[in-house]
Amino acid sequence: MPVIKDAVCSLCGSLCDDITVTVEDNKITKIENACILGHSKFVGMLEHDRIETPMIRKDGELVPVSYEEAIEAAAKILVNSKRMLSYGWCSTSCEAVSGAIQLAEETGSVIDSTANVCHGPTALAAQEKGSPSASLGEIKNRADVIIFWGCNPVHAHPRHMVRYSSFSKGLFTEKGRKGRKMIVVDVRKTDTAKLADNYVEIEQGSDLLLVTALRSIVNGHEDVIPETVAGVPKAKVVELAETLKNAKFVCIFFGMGVTQSRSKYKNGDAMSSLISDLNQHTKAVMIGMRGHYNVTGFGQVATWETGFPMAIDFARGYPYYNPGETGANDLLVREEPDAAIIAAADAGAHFPQKAVRHLAKIPVIQIDPYPNPTTEIADVVFPAAVVGIEAEGTAYRMDAISLRMKKLIESKFKTDEEIVKDLSAKVRELKRGA
Ligand code: SF4
Repeated sequence: MPVIKDAVCSLCGSLCDDITVTVEDNKITKIENACILGHSKFVGMLEHDRIETPMIRKDGELVPVSYEEAIEAAAKILVNSKRMLSYGWCSTSCEAVSGAIQLAEETGSVIDSTANVCHGPTALAAQEKGSPSASLGEIKNRADVIIFWGCNPVHAHPRHMVRYSSFSKGLFTEKGRKGRKMIVVDVRKTDTAKLADNYVEIEQGSDLLLVTALRSIVNGHEDVIPETVAGVPKAKVVELAETLKNAKFVCIFFGMGVTQSRSKYKNGDAMSSLISDLNQHTKAVMIGMRGHYNVTGFGQVATWETGFPMAIDFARGYPYYNPGETGANDLLVREEPDAAIIAAADAGAHFPQKAVRHLAKIPVIQIDPYPNPTTEIADVVFPAAVVGIEAEGTAYRMDAISLRMKKLIESKFKTDEEIVKDLSAKVRELKRGA
């Protein structure tokens, strides 16, 4: 009975790499160390319906076809498209992302990741002001003040606080939770906020006001602060600024409550400036609480291959990037794409209505292990192996540390990487014959 140690959980951006998995008859029968979300990913393989075979839509119905037939049909869509959109690629390996970028370049497509609807503004803020960061190991070993701002790890990243932050014990933080101050800034008292030493409730969309006020106080201009900021009394804002200044090592973990609320990337931009200001007094870093397990990896691979982290348009024959213009949703809302490939993501469930309505009008190629609302509007469907369970590959944790995901069981399904390579080969063949 093989027992596989140090398996990586491929669910959230924490990428816990201490999972022990027992395999019997090519089935996962025991999982140790994973949280409830991770556990459901490992056992979900057995409980959820899978896309069992490649399919093509004929007379309105998806019908099973051979893999070769599906590759041919999808490649024809790619070759005939004048404005192709490739979207998703964040719940898969970096190797698949690299293949997808190559395919996008060969077909003059726009390629975008799920960051389009989550931490995209974080990337923009990092470009404008930089991203003063550290590894989660550094946080575990050194941080004595930890802020969770606009995120709720108790539910979204359940082992984060135990492994890397508030509750973990490290080299210089041997007292664990007792030696750390935990602060939560949010618009409502989440389950994470209930565990905090200090909960700062702010008005919806006022993150930028609070960050700016904190910067003013840290820089010695407390006198300009009004009696309340973002709904928070001045005395509490001053106390928070003093706590940050007097810490040994501060880490601000921030989530979509910051990136997708009013002021969007300007929030991250200002937070980065706050971190710079704090570094005049102490050591401070910031880390985005990334959701999809390899959304960080997409940004890494895309940046080193094209110079840009997302929303990359190859229509001109070279990478062009202008979020707001070349983002997946921007294109779909303008009804620009004439075909789309959606992989390892579910645009059908997560995009705004107008974008989904346009997707439903154009040919859609889907690559995914599981059926989802995108399947309902797809014209060619490929079943894929689950990376981190049925296939190995590389992923980047939220702190941009790369980890190698193990293959735990055998699978009859092809990997995303294989599918995208076969598509590229067929596209080249069709282009040569054209
Ligand atoms: Fe998996 Fe995230 Fe839970 Fe870790 S915290 S076990 S990576 S779901």
